[in-house]
Amino acid sequence: MAAKIVAESVRSSLGPKGMEKMLVDSFGDVTITSDGRTVLDEMDIQHPAAKMLVEVAKTQDNEAGDGTTSAVIIAGELLGRAEELIDKNIHPTIIIDGYRKAAEKALETLEKIAIKVDLKTPDYLRKTAITSMASKLVAEYKEYLADIAVKAMLEVVEKEGGTWKVDVDDVKVEKKTGASLGETTLVSGIVLDKEIVHSGMPKRVEKAKIALLDASLENEKTEYDAKLTIESPEQIEAFLNQEEVMLKDMAEKIIKSGATVVICQKGIDDMAQHFLARKGIVAIRRAKKSDMEKLAKATGGKIVTKLDEITSDDLGYAALVEERKIGGDKLTFVEGCKNPQAVTILIRGGTQRITAEAERSLHDALCVIRDIIQEPRVVAGGGAPELEMSSVLRKYAESLPGRESLAVKVFAETLETIPVILTESAGMEPIDVISELRARHEKGETWAGIDAREGKIQDMSKIGVFEPLTVKKQIIKSATEAATLILKIDDVIASGKMKAPPMPPGGGAPGGGYPGMGGMGEY
Ligand code: ADP
Ligand code: MG
Repeated sequence: MAAKIVAESVRSSLGPKGMEKMLVDSFGDVTITSDGRTVLDEMDIQHPAAKMLVEVAKTQDNEAGDGTTSAVIIAGELLGRAEELIDKNIHPTIIIDGYRKAAEKALETLEKIAIKVDLKTPDYLRKTAITSMASKLVAEYKEYLADIAVKAMLEVVEKEGGTWKVDVDDVKVEKKTGASLGETTLVSGIVLDKEIVHSGMPKRVEKAKIALLDASLENEKTEYDAKLTIESPEQIEAFLNQEEVMLKDMAEKIIKSGATVVICQKGIDDMAQHFLARKGIVAIRRAKKSDMEKLAKATGGKIVTKLDEITSDDLGYAALVEERKIGGDKLTFVEGCKNPQAVTILIRGGTQRITAEAERSLHDALCVIRDIIQEPRVVAGGGAPELEMSSVLRKYAESLPGRESLAVKVFAETLETIPVILTESAGMEPIDVISELRARHEKGETWAGIDAREGKIQDMSKIGVFEPLTVKKQIIKSATEAATLILKIDDVIASGKMKAPPMPPGGGAPGGGYPGMGGMGEY
């Protein structure tokens, strides 16, 4: 029941006509999204079984990157309908077996109907990326953003022999408000959300030799408090001089290495900044660790942890390092890197909510592109593959013994939930539409589905709504896994000293509006 309620909460967000959710945290901060994973991540869920549905979304996101809402809806529905079967005195183990067999058959069907994609023509990549963003707040710009996503991914792909390898993390995403989504750009290089530390440093360095430091350019504070008795003004001066000498020494080491740009993961003392500025060296401090790693890969530099050991061999290279003003903030661009496989998508948008949702949508788009590059097969969307699977499963059910066949039939019906929701949100009549779609699939129209935008039945492959096979397969896998796991449980027992008060289903108001509930956290 608890798991079903969680699934209900994301149901209305599915598809291009899906609704957005407004998530409000205990500080009143608002997130607007239709991304299943984000909704569930932000929800204050306490029931252990409901938490497992959150896991479904996570697994789906990690394995495929898209299809989170669908996976959760199907998992919830499988559980809900299992309840009906249990009421009919069918033992959970039989349901589990039936579900597993059905899932296997469903996966087989997907393999059979999938369309092979030639990566040399990025057309399918583009269409799939557009489909993945159709349901999001940023849909107005989906073509534009899809083109950027495809270009970015093709830029970072590594071709090893016949196989292509790609990692979404190789595409850096930065976001800045102050312009429209249509001004989002693809930068070939790394963009850092950091300004140059000292006003005396140049704002632009060509043919930059870049030192990447994971050490601070500051005098370290002692771990213990110590008392220093100073008896004369000379001693104060000597003390300060000594500090200055140490900082100068640090700057000297960088200067000697031949670096013209220093990017430091830790702090840089004012005095050290001054010494570097005097030599025209540009410095950036407190860079993110993930950025440091990207910079190392892009510029071919080594991240140095001990300043004493820095040499010219450790330096990376970029044709241009420049600070530019974007939307009132200063960002640093590292362009023309030694390794050209480094790109940044700089998202622009009117407000932070828009840029944040654009980032989530781009994540989905980048993931589906990766999925296809790794497994170049797609299926059309709009509920077509789900209807095809359910049609195959219905026939399959007839070949099985009584009780198990019931579970397989239930699985088939569950898959139809996706087209049903798409139909509802498109304002069509589910009963008529689904029965017509079933008939068409019986006749062999594999890609008959719901064109949610036009509100009619269409051959989805003709209107270019495609999704990666990987996403669809993973939806079946993650949903079945979670449902069968929960079905196997017949009791929830609080373990250890911390007591787990069983929550009444639906009783946990999301958002911590409940006195004494909000900060309860894990049990
Ligand atoms: P998920 O988190 O599961 O990816 P989405 O909100 O992205 O959820 O919706 C995905 C569903 O919407 C898929 O079943 C997909 O086939 C469907 N879909 C996408 N574009 C269209 C369209 N133009 N017409 C009908 N269905 C569509
Ligand atoms: Mg999606």
